[in-house]
Amino acid sequence: MKTLVVKSCSKLQKLIDRIEPKSLNFIPTMGNLHEGHFSLIRKAKKKGGLNLVSIYVNPLQFNNKNDFKNYPRTLKKDLIQLRKLEVDLIFLPKTEFNSLDSVTIKLGKISEKLCGKYREGHFEGVATIILKFLLIIKPNRIFLGEKDYQQILVIKKIIKDFNLKVKVEIISTIRNADGVALSSRNSLIKNPKKLKKIINCLNKIKSRIMQDNFLQSDLEIYSEELMSFGIEKVNYLEILKEKELDCLDNRFSKCRIFISCIIEGVNFIDNIKVSKKLVLKKNYIRVASS
Ligand code: AMP
Repeated sequence: MKTLVVKSCSKLQKLIDRIEPKSLNFIPTMGNLHEGHFSLIRKAKKKGGLNLVSIYVNPLQFNNKNDFKNYPRTLKKDLIQLRKLEVDLIFLPKTEFNSLDSVTIKLGKISEKLCGKYREGHFEGVATIILKFLLIIKPNRIFLGEKDYQQILVIKKIIKDFNLKVKVEIISTIRNADGVALSSRNSLIKNPKKLKKIINCLNKIKSRIMQDNFLQSDLEIYSEELMSFGIEKVNYLEILKEKELDCLDNRFSKCRIFISCIIEGVNFIDNIKVSKKLVLKKNYIRVASS
């Protein structure tokens, strides 16, 4: 099928009804596409069925007007790349896609952690727009990247709460040769060397945890070290349980190290998995023996 570009919700719905695809894969994006997005598309293509990529810089998830205004938009280039990848459908919602006065979503505990703490309304904005997409498109599968780990939990929550029949497919974070997580916002950063410091810091913490030699308060030392490298602000650097982003306690749990920083005024997030289960004992983070 030739790549079709659709801008109106009703046209998209009619088209999907007419084609009646056996299986529909949905890959939501905000554009300025990179290898992370392409990997999601490749994974979707392997599953079979039709593939729909949306590009929409969702105003509801920005709590800062300048951040929204400066978000990199490269639509022409994106469309060329999506056609090369032979994506079946590209959905480019119009600006008014976000006029949803009748809806207020509350996410509870999950939106009060990590990015939810300093980006007020961010996850509610994500959830509202993703819900609208899912109701319009009715995909069989949605493809998401682990780089936005908290976002995955939020999307899984609305899928569960609304009993939507859509399977969540996840890919690992795609990184450049320096280990830096690819992100559309990276193009706004003039000194990419600072980004490398972040993944180095996460890897150092991980390796010290694996040596069973890590005090929870050591996280502060690593935050300070990042600031000494010219990173303006560390919004958070935390080790939390994977399941619901709870704090570590006396039960062994699968965990991740999460970070958010401001570099040259740009928000950057990343996270890595710790391969062994962790527990907190007398302020020390301890590793499970197997
Ligand atoms: P965005 O365009 O930033 O909203 O991201 C669209 C989708 O691509 C989300 O599911 C992201 O988690 C995913 N994504 C973004 N960057 C990466 C990356 N470096 N590796 C894997 N997935 C990514």
